[in-house]
Amino acid sequence: MSQSLLLDGKVAVISGAASPRGIGLATARLFARHGAKVVILDLDEKAAADAAASIGPEHRGYACNVTDQAGCKTAAERAVADFGKIDILINNAGITQPVKTLEIDPASWDRILDVNLRGVLYLSQAVIPQMKKQRSGSIACMSSVSAQRGGGILGGPHYSAAKAGVLGLAKAMAREFGPDNIRVNCVTPGLIQTDISAGKISDEKKSEIAAGIPLNRLGNADEVAGAYLFLASDLSSYITGAVIDVNGGMLIHG
Ligand code: NAD
Repeated sequence: MSQSLLLDGKVAVISGAASPRGIGLATARLFARHGAKVVILDLDEKAAADAAASIGPEHRGYACNVTDQAGCKTAAERAVADFGKIDILINNAGITQPVKTLEIDPASWDRILDVNLRGVLYLSQAVIPQMKKQRSGSIACMSSVSAQRGGGILGGPHYSAAKAGVLGLAKAMAREFGPDNIRVNCVTPGLIQTDISAGKISDEKKSEIAAGIPLNRLGNADEVAGAYLFLASDLSSYITGAVIDVNGGMLIHG
């Protein structure tokens, strides 16, 4: 195994990866640098295709709303048609909403749970049959420190619930598909500077949050991409059902 090119010859599908300053595109860029062919999925076909083109001509971008089961299946089929296989799935797409428990209306509950949790199920369902055929695969799912500490940064309780649901879903899939040599893990980032929180947290509040973090700063998208790379690559070949914190020490477990 090459240490410098950790994903040489691999095909990676990454959801929610068109956002220019997002974790998904940072991950796509890092995976491409490590030799992977990348398929970027996001809501808008042109934005996804442009994001893929921005990292190199051999990559692809398709429209895929992760809450649409048939759409997820179509996206997986397109990836296999273009590249012949899928080795890695990064379930990264997500949305948040800063509200309190008593303000969560039924539509907001559905929207937050659908994208953050149902989407992980649908895209995994679309990709796993191909991975089973290959008898190998690595799936990494986006959770959040919000799931572990009960929110309190930006997302509301429905966001915490959805991201906690991702932990359970991923662990159950890890158990179910281990015998097929498909690994399933999660990342739980703390506060990462992307557009998801842009304009929603004041500089003063950010400094206050940073002061409570042992590494004394917020995280950046590349630092989450690094954790995804580890989970996607063979460096983590005996790791499944695990959760990797990327939070600067904001939450240190007992
Ligand atoms: P972002 O807003 O830049 O990226 C989210 C991406 O998901 C966007 O490109 C958006 O278009 C896409 N998306 C939204 N709904 C979708 C859908 N239904 N189908 C497909 N794509 C969809 O934000 P980000 O910070 O890069 O977020 C990436 C992931 O990281 C999210 O799941 C988020 O909840 C999670 N997360 C972020 C932080 C943070 O502090 N930034 C912390 C913990 C977890």
